[in-house]
Amino acid sequence: MLSPSLEDYLEEIYRLSGGSDSVRVTDVAATLNVKLPSVTRALQKLARKNYLTYHPYREVVLTPKGKKLGRFLNERNRVLQEFVRVLGSESDAAKEAEAMEHYLSLPTIRAIENLITFMHHYPECLNAFQEYREQRSKAGDGLRDGYAPEHE
Ligand code: CA
Repeated sequence: MLSPSLEDYLEEIYRLSGGSDSVRVTDVAATLNVKLPSVTRALQKLARKNYLTYHPYREVVLTPKGKKLGRFLNERNRVLQEFVRVLGSESDAAKEAEAMEHYLSLPTIRAIENLITFMHHYPECLNAFQEYREQRSKAGDGLRDGYAPEHE
């Protein structure tokens, strides 16, 4: 297993590669908003584990192993973003997926995927859920924030 940080590197490298094999190190640093020395350290770790090849001043090249895991990490992120949208949460789907993806087990994510495909397969269920959600929201039902406002 990779650390959450290394998973995010591989996920982003795969996304940036856009189906081709190679990615510029500066693009990785810019997309993840990290400094080059940190990127270099992460790339060296991923190279040691055979997910990619990395040589200074050259483009990063994903190995078949790196592509396979990179594809999975992107797919996992996409499923969790879709989950947040199906739920009808007002939060930022991308941020929520980032928060969940490293901590939920694969069986739970697969179960979530089943729920999403079920909702798309039976739009009447998705509609009923959306109506129910709106009714509860209008009635003011549901979990309330237990934190006091900061200024109190
Ligand atoms: Ca991620």
